[in-house]
Amino acid sequence: MADRYEVIIIGAGPGGYVAALRASQLKKKTLLIEEDKVGGTCMNWGCIPTKHLLHLTQVFAEVGNARHLEGPRDRILCDWAKVQEERAKVVDKLVKGTEFLLQKNGVAIIKGRAEFVGPDKVSVAASQDVREFESSRIVLATGSRSADLPFLKPDGIRIITSREALELAAVPKSLIVIGAGAIGLELATIYRRMGTDVLVLEILPAILPGSDREIAQRLERILIKQGVKILTQMRIEESRVEEGGVFLKGTCLKEGTPFEYRAEKVLAAAGREPNSEGLRRGLPGLAVTRRGFVEVNSKLETNIPGVYAVGDVIGGKLLAHKASHEGILAVENAFGAAQDMHYEALPMAVFTDPEFASVGLTEEEAKESGLEVRVGKFPFHASGRAMTLESTEGLVKVLAGKDDRIIGAHILSPHASEIIPELTLAIHRGLALQDVSSAIHIHPTLSEGVMEAALKAKNSAFHILNV
Ligand code: FAD
Repeated sequence: MADRYEVIIIGAGPGGYVAALRASQLKKKTLLIEEDKVGGTCMNWGCIPTKHLLHLTQVFAEVGNARHLEGPRDRILCDWAKVQEERAKVVDKLVKGTEFLLQKNGVAIIKGRAEFVGPDKVSVAASQDVREFESSRIVLATGSRSADLPFLKPDGIRIITSREALELAAVPKSLIVIGAGAIGLELATIYRRMGTDVLVLEILPAILPGSDREIAQRLERILIKQGVKILTQMRIEESRVEEGGVFLKGTCLKEGTPFEYRAEKVLAAAGREPNSEGLRRGLPGLAVTRRGFVEVNSKLETNIPGVYAVGDVIGGKLLAHKASHEGILAVENAFGAAQDMHYEALPMAVFTDPEFASVGLTEEEAKESGLEVRVGKFPFHASGRAMTLESTEGLVKVLAGKDDRIIGAHILSPHASEIIPELTLAIHRGLALQDVSSAIHIHPTLSEGVMEAALKAKNSAFHILNV
């Protein structure tokens, strides 16, 4: 006999565990199934460990770069084993805290791999036991994993994915990062700060494909100054694990010339693929895209009635806050709401130094869709706060439509991820430039740059010329 729940959620990453918390707030009998660790990729092998390693290595880099400190810099060392110990401690604390929250909220958690045995029934193999559970509402939140590349098969030792890169026992002497997306650039930054010779190879013409071009180019120049080598339009065609490292061969598309590189380790960070094939075995009618992402409608329901899907497994921007937001919406819809998911105000951030945060349309996207855009930019070299932080290379860029409503914003600065929410709210609530520029901003802060950029869009900035 199968145990019956009002809702079953498969996968306990941010999509799944937040969905479970929402279901418990709605007083529904909820089962959360997780084959690995609560917190999913985000907490264990994604957002949290990367940000912690970025923080710990930034402290080291800042001490090394500080012009006002005296004393032999070569005597200040970073204890990598301790760094790893700290990372593991933070991850563990968060995972345990989330498990505690789920349990206190009455969510039943089963550890094991879920498989469909019918459209409303799943089996879970845990230890020697196979149990079955039933529900007329099931939420798929099984996430994604690093994509396999035809020319690069990760072995977990020499050719690694982000998962291994976060837990390396020793700092490699050299590292080639394949892919200049957020994950590749954050890991490149971490290891560069630790002294690794880092080379990033990207097949596309620019880093952070799909991002605001001007800001991405600026970030590229800054990263290069920090010692990260970045080469774009580099197509890798062959890889070989050799004594002491990895050999890569390919073609530079810009020049049409061949290239060869060697490094102690190669990190495959060029895309992610959905964890959907296991689910599809027991649910053969489930509609998926060519790349295996589960297809959903605007209410996040799949083509199988009562089966919803959220987070990385449905594709789009692979972000933890997208997953959790979708998780809440899917559960509410499963219990009778009829809300559509909107992505116009979905922010993202890359936690390099400086950070790059973005929301809404890029200037390129706005122009491509024929929109008449007004652009306001404020460079941080004119910001008092940026000067005090010794980080003046960034800028704020705000885009507004013809009616002055804000449609996009892009920020390169320290803590850009903490500044972007003001503009996320502006887009979410359909606010205009005037709404942002007329709000009082604390002085001295980087967020004054948001106000100035909004003013500049109307040629009325105070701290830069309006010509
Ligand atoms: P996941 O977090 O992947 O969780 C899915 C869970 O489902 C997993 O725990 C898996 O074990 C489980 N599962 C899969 N199949 C089954 C099954 N059949 N039965 C039971 N359980 C199953 N995003 C951000 O927003 N900010 C960041 O700073 C950020 N940094 C990142 C850094 C790295 C290195 C990586 C890899 C990702 C990063 N991301 C970041 C992306 C973020 O981690 C994902 O978008 C997010 O985790 C997706 O959440 P999810 O719930 O959809 O899936």
